[in-house]
Amino acid sequence: MKSGILVVGSLNMDFVLRVEHLPAPGETVRGSDFQMTPGGKGANQAAAAGRLGGHVSMLGRVGEDIFAEQLRQSLSACDCDFSRVLETPGVSTGTALIFVEQGGSNQIAVAAGANARLTSDDLREAEDAFSEAGFLLLQLESQLATVETALELARKHGVITILDPAPARPLPPELLAMVDICTPNETEICALADSGPPANMALQLTTKGPRTVILTLGAAGALVAHEGQTTRYLAPKVEAIDTVAAGDCFNGALAVALAEGAGIPEAVLFANRAAAICVTRSGAQASLPTREEVAALA
Ligand code: ADP
Repeated sequence: MKSGILVVGSLNMDFVLRVEHLPAPGETVRGSDFQMTPGGKGANQAAAAGRLGGHVSMLGRVGEDIFAEQLRQSLSACDCDFSRVLETPGVSTGTALIFVEQGGSNQIAVAAGANARLTSDDLREAEDAFSEAGFLLLQLESQLATVETALELARKHGVITILDPAPARPLPPELLAMVDICTPNETEICALADSGPPANMALQLTTKGPRTVILTLGAAGALVAHEGQTTRYLAPKVEAIDTVAAGDCFNGALAVALAEGAGIPEAVLFANRAAAICVTRSGAQASLPTREEVAALA
């Protein structure tokens, strides 16, 4: 089996402020500890997988500004191939404004910038990346048509597809039909299945395309639905200070374990451990763990 991991998706520069509590509409709150850190769901997943030892290639778009080089450098520091991260003249790199309150909850606004310019043609021009990959990681910070083309190319080349359906939105049935593993959190699954107990929603989603649904449950770990059965996998107990990129870390780690030949149970436990470490540190890519750190938590 091919073990390369291709990530198609977003790269953002994150502007992070710690706040006493998340601001209500019209409210000004006191912030501290300003940080500018590389992020974007796609780049975070790529960086997570790269740092954990995966063979990772990232396909996306940045602008022609001071942030582009910093985002490439961050991927490079995590041993990700960024040669397919394209520059987009006249457009800004994607940005995210993130508030994090005590306890780790967050509120995020994203401006897609160059990420919105990643087209189906860009992907077709990089078809060799699909033919070389064993796994494709996708999220929803790109245009839906681009996500759909990525899934089609993956299908064509026998690549296993993992979709994190974030940010939450309903998806067309034909898109979901091409997903092998879907990894929503508790908010995202509400856009994809009728409301009900989490296990029922996850099972329902397995009837819409993905053979395996992995519902992430924050501190409670993850629930796997597959062939009419559900199983819960607990996350290690940690003190969470910042949940930014927890889901991205989970997906990157999941892909690494699967690419190494692990089954779903082992891969989900590995992903829970990696993501639990991620929430104990602040930042997106800055908070991603190494292989040694995950092993030490086992
Ligand atoms: P997202 O970050 O996409 O909103 P979750 O909040 O479900 O998704 O978190 C993703 C994963 O991160 C969880 O499945 C779990 O493995 C890990 N995680 C998140 N919060 C905690 C926590 N407080 N303690 C331990 N692990 C956590």
